Amino acid sequence: MKITIIGSGIGGLSLALYLSNRGIEVTVLEKLPEPGGRARTLRLGEYTFDMGPSWYLMPEVFQEFYKRVGESPPELMEVDPMFTLYSGELGSRGEGRDFRHGELNQLKEYLDDVGEIYRLSLEKFLFRELKVLDLMDPAILRNLNRFPLLSTLDQFNRKYFRDDFTLKALGFSSVFLGGTPFNTPALYSMVNYAIYGGGVYYPKGGFGQMVESLHRACLKRGVEFHFNTEVDGIDVKDGKVRAVRSGGKRWEGDVFVFNADYRFADSLLPYEYQLGEGYWSRRKLAPSGLLLYLGVEGEVNLGHHTIVVKGDWTRHFRALERSYLPELDHTSYYVSYRGATERGLRDLVVLVPMTPGVGVEPKVYYDALLRDLEVKSGSKIQVKVSKFYGPGDFQRDYNAFKGTAFGLAHTLDQTGPFRPPLKHRRIENLYFVGQYTQPGIGVPMVTLSAMIVGDKILSS
Ligand SMILES: Cc1cc2nc3c(=O)[nH]c(=O)nc-3n(C[C@H](O)[C@H](O)[C@H](O)COP(=O)(O)OP(=O)(O)OC[C@H]3O[C@@H](n4cnc5c(N)ncnc54)[C@H](O)[C@@H]3O)c2cc1C
Repeated sequence: MKITIIGSGIGGLSLALYLSNRGIEVTVLEKLPEPGGRARTLRLGEYTFDMGPSWYLMPEVFQEFYKRVGESPPELMEVDPMFTLYSGELGSRGEGRDFRHGELNQLKEYLDDVGEIYRLSLEKFLFRELKVLDLMDPAILRNLNRFPLLSTLDQFNRKYFRDDFTLKALGFSSVFLGGTPFNTPALYSMVNYAIYGGGVYYPKGGFGQMVESLHRACLKRGVEFHFNTEVDGIDVKDGKVRAVRSGGKRWEGDVFVFNADYRFADSLLPYEYQLGEGYWSRRKLAPSGLLLYLGVEGEVNLGHHTIVVKGDWTRHFRALERSYLPELDHTSYYVSYRGATERGLRDLVVLVPMTPGVGVEPKVYYDALLRDLEVKSGSKIQVKVSKFYGPGDFQRDYNAFKGTAFGLAHTLDQTGPFRPPLKHRRIENLYFVGQYTQPGIGVPMVTLSAMIVGDKILSS
């Protein structure tokens, strides 16, 4: 059997490793000159940046994956404090607090409950493709009082807490899932367990190192990679993909898996096989992002992960929902500074959630947010090199639909069986892997999707 995977993000790489480890011939076609997709590495002079992920959560998922492919998981370093949260007006010191593993005893009841959701999800749902009927599982029905499926994360958190600062600390994780605390289902409080119950870790050398070792392990098993190869056509005959095309060249195979942007792949199919524009226009897209990659010197008083909730965060969420640029006074942002954990690194990455499909003037945000960060953390930051990356770059580099950074939001009607399917319903040898499909956004979820699709292909 010959498998062709289109895209070498974490999803494509993990699947290539999973299948090649079982002796299957795998070819990977990648548009960009290097592997990793959103998790790839950026080099600016002597500075190296992880372009996307920075939180290594749910280590159990990676342990299982690496065990199945016969490789060692990345070496982990503990992130301490797990994160720092600042809340306050633009340019003011505001209120800041470090969150440390184990100090959250007052969360005990909450963690007991969300821990149950976490364990149940891992045991029953996350390692397989979910069908609608699976939601009627007796284990879910028995625990409905613990995680009412129909509440939002914010409503759920408010059953336990009143304090605004704590609600923010327990609400921001929804942004990782492409939503807000007000539209993300309570089920995803499991991410809070992953953080507060499991602890926060960092893969030594960063996510770039993780991508490199996945790529190396694939090469060791004979996977063939073709970079700078953008697939621009799909030949379908009698309900089967016969080949994909790239710049006039045809790539044949028995099974094809798209890791590339789902909606882009859909648009390459003959019209009668597409989910179509009607389907995509009804989906709720996850935000895009404005990223500032800064190589810095000077006095940097930052932990590894910093979250700044500036002004009224509901105004930022409203801007994302209604497709306009967030007002500077009400723009929340996230900062990653790996140097706090891995000595010698001086790369600082600022991420501002932005609505997909709008043009951004990065300098406006850059000047105000850098100053704000300095005031809040008491730092004096000298920027030596910088690069801005925004919605247009996501669209150009990854063919991302409207420049979304994370794909589809995890709203209730886009959770589990309601996400786009892992296998095309009418084309028997066409599959999809990655953040658009089940279980969803984030490196552990995408690794799970590779295992689920891999098993589906192996058993077909
Ligand atoms: C800024 C940012 C921060 C994040 N932070 C975290 C975090 O802290 N923790 C976490 O777990 N997750 C995080 N995530 C999410 C996580 O990075 C993604 O969910 C995951 O990396 C997506 O992997 P993927 O394989 O689905 O897709 P991608 O990484 O998008 O890979 C798809 C690949 O397909 C290629 N491609 C596209 N079109 C074509 C074509 N026509 N032909 C050939 N190839 C094509 C692309 O170039 C790309 O390499 C973050 C994401 C971003 C953007």
